[in-house]
Amino acid sequence: MNQFDMDHLNKAHDGITGLLGADGGGSAESLLLALAYIVASVLFILSLRGLSSQETSSRGNLYGIVGMAIAILATLTATQIVSYGYLVPVLLVGGGIGAWMAARVAMTAMPELVALLHSFVGAAAVLVGMASYLGGGAHGSRGIWLGEIWIAVMIGAITFTGSVIAFLKLRGTLGGKPLLLPARHFLNLAMVVGCIALAWPFSDAPGTDGIAWLLVMAGIASVLGVHLVMAIGGADMPVVVSLLNSYSGWTAAAAGFMLGNDLLIVTGALVGSSGAILSYIMCRAMNRSIWNVVFGGFGTGDSKPPPPPADGVAPGEIGEASVESTVAELRQAKSVVIVPGYGMAVGRAQHAVRTMTEKLQANGATVRFAIHPVAGRLPGHMNVLLAEANIPYDIVLEMDEINDDLPETDLVLVIGANDIVNPGAQTDTSSAIYGMPVLEVWKAGSVVLMKRSRRTGYAGVDNPLFYMPVTKLLYGDAKDSVEAINAAF
Ligand code: NDP
Repeated sequence: MNQFDMDHLNKAHDGITGLLGADGGGSAESLLLALAYIVASVLFILSLRGLSSQETSSRGNLYGIVGMAIAILATLTATQIVSYGYLVPVLLVGGGIGAWMAARVAMTAMPELVALLHSFVGAAAVLVGMASYLGGGAHGSRGIWLGEIWIAVMIGAITFTGSVIAFLKLRGTLGGKPLLLPARHFLNLAMVVGCIALAWPFSDAPGTDGIAWLLVMAGIASVLGVHLVMAIGGADMPVVVSLLNSYSGWTAAAAGFMLGNDLLIVTGALVGSSGAILSYIMCRAMNRSIWNVVFGGFGTGDSKPPPPPADGVAPGEIGEASVESTVAELRQAKSVVIVPGYGMAVGRAQHAVRTMTEKLQANGATVRFAIHPVAGRLPGHMNVLLAEANIPYDIVLEMDEINDDLPETDLVLVIGANDIVNPGAQTDTSSAIYGMPVLEVWKAGSVVLMKRSRRTGYAGVDNPLFYMPVTKLLYGDAKDSVEAINAAF
């Protein structure tokens, strides 16, 4: 065996002993812990895979629950646990509050709950980082360990305060308007440079004398988190929440390195990368860059009346529909496509929509749902609502699957959607949503648009679909309108 092979063997051995714990897996306990962590990691990966499609999402959730239960139980049996007297009550209270919140949360409030949960990850990383530093539990090189603490505390503090601001904005406690301070990019840069520069005196301090530097840096990073998220429009918060989700994952991974916990590293990396991919997918579906979201100050979350047309010519008449005229059209239609949007979520109309679907099917019509990737306010928003109303998955189609069928469709019912059916995204180069792929509903035989007024949607742009001859507006709350249709059908 040559030197090259020996080096590789040694590296492989180091890798395996690292995974099995610091003592090389010598004890049965650390071997069991390592095995439990490997099983939990595999279950988390299977969970992410399961969550990628509606049919497998319940199974995906189950894998996640089992993986987390194994991870918690395995960690509880580790020898480092000092007092079960503290741990068990804390786990019971925390688990109880979590279950209570999850059972009560409305689907429209999901982004704010997720933002709040991310703030806990950030706060935990800051506290664990400081506790580790004060406890002096370095494993391996002190320099590297101090670096891990610094990174975990810095990203943790940004995630904590950024997530709290995102939560307050989504809740409406703070206004949706972006706070655009003069020289804000410079301020952000100065704070990042300040945080990095303080790492030097921190790493030079003997023992635990560097705690003051750590606290000062955590303070600066907290202000940075507040400032970064305050500068983003309320309407962009879902993308920001997904980005903070990614940060919380990287924070957990940094904490995993700091504590020498492999499961935390794997889980943190999974959350970090999936959050980053989700943010990218959301931005791509809106035809915007992540920088445009983070630095653009776009969208205040308040809808407005449509802006006047650029050429000064008054837009055309808007056709109006009544419940009776819509029912008459529905009775005749052989193929119906339903496009749900944010308004369906606000109006909580999904159960009434299921009843309507059943009535239409009983009348002999083919009914399908068309889902735009960014319909609503969080990825998969519409899929979750339709699943909650027990609408079968096989009639719920993605935009790319159904766009080609729209010209052969008799009637499209747009329920509380606006931007995702805006033809201006294909034709108006001055539009804020130009280039965003949309559902081409105007190609169908007839379009009934259900909303309460002519106000704009999230992007605040006028919708030429309103003025097309094929379109009629049925004014009213989505649930009231659908229930009235059901009653009259
Ligand atoms: P929009 O925000 O474009 O339009 C929703 C429409 O629903 C509004 O025009 C509103 O009109 C109507 N509405 C609101 N409440 C009700 C109600 N109770 N009953 C009936 N209608 C109602 O939503 P879309 O789903 O069409 O598009 C989503 C937008 O959100 C896109 O611009 C997307 O880029 C953006 N976005 C999506 C994210 C995601 O992950 N899904 C993340 C971030 C942004 P009116 O007030 O007249 O009733």
